[in-house]
This record gives sequence, C-alpha cells and structure tokens, in this order.
Amino acid sequence: MGILSVKGVNKNFGGLKALHNVNLEIEEGTVHAIIGPNGAGKSTLLNCFIGKLMPDSGSVTFNNNSLLGIKPHEINQLGVSRVFQTPEIFEDESLLDNVMIPAFAKRDGAFRINMWSSVSNEHELRDKAMHMLEDVGLDGTSDKLAGQLSRGDKRRLELAMCLVQEPKLLLLDEPTAGMARADTNSTIDLLKKISESGITMVVIEHDMHVVFSLAQRISVLAQGTVIAEDLPENIKGNPKVQEAYLGGAHL
Ligand code: ADP
Ligand code: MG
Repeated sequence: MGILSVKGVNKNFGGLKALHNVNLEIEEGTVHAIIGPNGAGKSTLLNCFIGKLMPDSGSVTFNNNSLLGIKPHEINQLGVSRVFQTPEIFEDESLLDNVMIPAFAKRDGAFRINMWSSVSNEHELRDKAMHMLEDVGLDGTSDKLAGQLSRGDKRRLELAMCLVQEPKLLLLDEPTAGMARADTNSTIDLLKKISESGITMVVIEHDMHVVFSLAQRISVLAQGTVIAEDLPENIKGNPKVQEAYLGGAHL
C-alpha cells in the first residue's frame, strides 16, 4: 500500500459525476503526476486530500490515517502540505516572516501561534526559515516584501512556506501555471531537488514538459475516471489517453 491510498472515491456536484470510483496508490518517495483534460476532476480529487471537499463515498488514507472528516490543519499536522494554483502568501510581510509564520504554526498547532515561545526557539525557527529561503533560491532578499516578488518567485516563496513544515507529502496543483519558460525550468529543477530530499509529491500539471521531466508515475483522469495509470514512457502511446486528449490539450 502507498503512503497515500485512495479507494473507491466518488464525488457528485448535483447531477455531475466529478469523481467516479477513483483508486490511486502513491508510493513513498515518488513524484506521481495526475493529468487529464480540463474539467476531468483533478482539482476536485486534490481537494478531497486536504479537507476542502468531502467525497460522497470511498476512503483516503495517508500513512494509515484517514484524511476524511478531519480539519485541514490536522491534515497538515500529519505531514501533508499543498501548493495552490494561486500562491497564498502574505503580500505585506517580509519573505522571512512569510516563512516563519507556517514554521510557528507547525510547532504550536496551526493558527494557535504561541507568542510566549522561548527566544532561543525563535532563533532556531528564524535560522530554519533563512535556510529554506536559501534552498528555494530566495536568499539575500529576506527583508523584501512578498508582494514585490515576480510570479515565479512567489511560487518559490510558497514552496519555502511548505517545506519549513517538513512535509512528508507535497501536493501541487499546476505549479508552473502562467509561468514563462525560464521560470518553469527553474521550478522543475527546484521540484527535482525537493523530490531528491525524499519528499513524496503529487503533481497536477497541464504542461507535459513538466510532467515528463518530473513524474515517475502518471495517472490520467478523464470525466472523473482514472483511464490509465502507468510509467511515463507507456502513457504517451496509450490509446485511451490519446482519445481523451483528442480535440483538447495534446500530449
Ligand atoms: P480539473 O481540475 O481537472 O480541471 P475540476 O476538478 O476543477 O477539474 O472539475 C471537475 C468537474 O467538476 C468540472 O465539470 C467542474 O465544473 C465541476 N466542479 C468542480 N468544482 C465544483 C463545485 N464546487 N461545484 C460544482 N461543480 C464543480
Ligand atoms: Mg484544476
């Protein structure tokens, strides 16, 4: 069984079957991409992993803990972090503060930041936050306001905010959406580095260059159903996958 195990998940929105009997096993330490045409159910599926949506039926377990019916911050405490399509950062705070806020939250339980924490501990967190900024390539700018960053750098900052919580599983919904090629390539390099550090990743991505650069395993969703799951080299030639993409995005 994988570190993340999805069994028989169904989700309807009114009469629309957004997810239909979805099964997925994410192996520890791998990068697993979920691809599929627009409206296939990719974001809906991810939202079932982070407490944003409750499936109508089925199970989602992480390290044998059910992720269903528990709060987003509890899921986060188990070691699951996610990066959104639109970076969620504190624009009016410095880069350092942006990274220190989730570091405090992780230590004290999300949103119960303990203002009376010992100073030495704060120094430790500060050092850790500085290291994270360095790791994502934002060193030397820790005093800058987050709102002043380019789109690509905001994404880096958001990754630092996730990594400082030392996640075991990182969920990424279109991490390179709207990026120029140069930013996309440096994001690929950064994500590779993160993967090599042992963090398991689930990546939803439209850009096939990103998918094939990163993924060790690919699942293809179409109309809420997993139509293929295979090694990257076998996905491109899969007739079902080619059919799902006809008239839409191309592999
Ligand atoms: P993807 O991320 O693969 O593009 P989504 O998961 O966003 O697809 O959407 C899957 C389907 O579910 C789409 O038809 C979408 O319109 C629908 N959908 C998504 N979220 C909702 C919602 N909150 N309410 C109603 N329909 C939704
Ligand atoms: Mg989506």
